[in-house]
Amino acid sequence: MSKVVLPGEIDATEFIHCVMQAAFLFKGSVTSWIRTELHNLAVHGPRKSKHLQGLAADLVWDVVPELTRLEAFCKDYGCRVRREYEHEPWVGPKPSRVFSYDHFSHDHIEKA
Ligand SMILES: [Zn+2]
Repeated sequence: MSKVVLPGEIDATEFIHCVMQAAFLFKGSVTSWIRTELHNLAVHGPRKSKHLQGLAADLVWDVVPELTRLEAFCKDYGCRVRREYEHEPWVGPKPSRVFSYDHFSHDHIEKA
């Protein structure tokens, strides 16, 4: 009999270590981790987003780290980074992003 593997049973050890180490080392805050399909639809996430398996997280930073440094760090944990930018022009200060570079939205880290 084959066992149904729930996303929560996937070995996320390396991914979780990567996100936690990166967050503490580079001073980041996690703004998104596990998503339901409904939530993923609402935020226009890709249909096969790794957030659905809990193998992706979005982070914002007190000071946005150099992308190459962050990528090299995450690679050691078998993870990759996608830097996301704001698509709409800013209309005013965004309190949670006052320390971020212009148009930076978040870094998406996922298990490769
Ligand atoms: Zn993401």
